[in-house]
Amino acid sequence: MKADFAKFKTEIDSACFSEDPINNTLHSYDATNEFHLPAGVVRPRNEFDLQQIIRSANANFIPLVPRGAGTGFSGGALPLNKGGKLCSPSVVIDFLGMNKILELDEDDMVAKVQPGLVTFQFQEYVEQKGFFYPPDPASLKTCTLGGNVAENAGGPRCLKYGLTRDYVLAIDGFTGDGKPFHVGKGVLKNRSGYDLRHILIGSEGTLGVFSSILLKLRPKPEDRILFIAFFDDFNEATGMVNTLLHKGIQPSSMEFMDEFSVRAVERHGKFGLPLNYQALLLIEADGRSDEIPFLKRRIEDSLKVSAKEIRIAIEHYEQEAFWDIRRKTSPALRAFGNKKANEDISVPRKSIPAVIRGLREIADKNRINLINFGHIGDGNIHVNIMYDGKNPDDQFRVNLALTNIASLVNEVHGAISGEHGVGTVKKRFLPGNVDSVSYDLMRAIKKDFDPNGILNPGKMLY
Ligand SMILES: Cc1cc2nc3c(=O)[nH]c(=O)nc-3n(C[C@H](O)[C@H](O)[C@H](O)COP(=O)(O)OP(=O)(O)OC[C@H]3O[C@@H](n4cnc5c(N)ncnc54)[C@H](O)[C@@H]3O)c2cc1C
Repeated sequence: MKADFAKFKTEIDSACFSEDPINNTLHSYDATNEFHLPAGVVRPRNEFDLQQIIRSANANFIPLVPRGAGTGFSGGALPLNKGGKLCSPSVVIDFLGMNKILELDEDDMVAKVQPGLVTFQFQEYVEQKGFFYPPDPASLKTCTLGGNVAENAGGPRCLKYGLTRDYVLAIDGFTGDGKPFHVGKGVLKNRSGYDLRHILIGSEGTLGVFSSILLKLRPKPEDRILFIAFFDDFNEATGMVNTLLHKGIQPSSMEFMDEFSVRAVERHGKFGLPLNYQALLLIEADGRSDEIPFLKRRIEDSLKVSAKEIRIAIEHYEQEAFWDIRRKTSPALRAFGNKKANEDISVPRKSIPAVIRGLREIADKNRINLINFGHIGDGNIHVNIMYDGKNPDDQFRVNLALTNIASLVNEVHGAISGEHGVGTVKKRFLPGNVDSVSYDLMRAIKKDFDPNGILNPGKMLY
């Protein structure tokens, strides 16, 4: 398998290709803060360009790395220098030139989009038409729908509305050897054979390259209400999730921040948050306008039992200010270290108090800065370790802590990633988190979709 980069360049349309060093640098990173310079960047304008690029890359053993906005936290969009086993520098596929809404079918409430479309732009567009596309990763103003599907992105509203997976009806794209696939249909029920959509969703650019996606829409909720509550005791905050659900109250989001994340975001944005509590809960409920006063009363009554301070946002601008606190948390943590190891473990809700205790023990044992926030309603905790990436001793202790966290997750039968994916970052923990038969099946599936292993090599699987 000898890579022939010169031949690859002669076979693709030169108008789509760049080797400009500045452009390469702009495609060399993602939110892991790692850098790997690609050999070049291709920017397909349509499906024809895309197929030509993939076919030629496959014939010439050139690794391809699909890239949305590069906001991924697991290294999926990093063009690894050696391109895995192919030993050739990677070429990035940039989807900026394929970012259109192709169709909105108002009767069937579905929309067909190109993968480079920014999530928020799509949401704004459909909301103007009275529809709703719920998946809301905190990065939604930059990330793309292609990246969301490839990572099966979640977000706060998953609690009520589910993940990106729950909105993908069909995907068009190409396998690693350039064969076109049309997986799924514009129907709500589809039992025609194995459901290959669910293999492609969350495949992190390793199985196929998406060229268009058909998404399901919902009716837009009329109104919403938002609470921020502060707790002295972390267990009381986590217990609130089940308190509400068991009373039949279905919040759209339940987010939590530990005391360290509250301090970080307050220092970053001066939101006027009190700093003397163990946990903050952000709870949103939505629905018909006439349901909101009832939801407000029920949630407030429940919170009053254990929360020490409650704030309520009724107006849209107040709600956006509350959400800003949560969305700024991840960037605010940079103040605690130049490097961030970003785990997003997913555990059964009943294990959350034990897991949080276990995480604190891991932090103390390894002398690391460990900060937790996340989607508590889903049991999805973002565990952030902030450290000095230039200090080998810090790096060593962080690696130990990451191994300890993976073991803790396995002990409670959780998943090492709830929504950020495996990529390069959690690849070493995947074999311990799934059974060996499943792991071997994943490798076999990879081989079938991508026989020469050119799609995002070195990611997810060994
Ligand atoms: C501040 C911040 C907050 C975040 N909050 C959340 C959150 O709440 N929930 C959440 O789930 N994630 C979150 N993320 C992570 C990230 O935004 C998501 O994983 C997002 O889906 C990545 O989209 P992207 O367009 O940036 O993709 P990229 O990072 O560019 O790529 C991600 C993966 O998708 C693949 N890919 C991209 N396009 C295609 C395509 N057309 N075909 C096939 N594969 C493709 C890439 O190869 C890569 O493996 C956050 C990130 C940041 C920086």
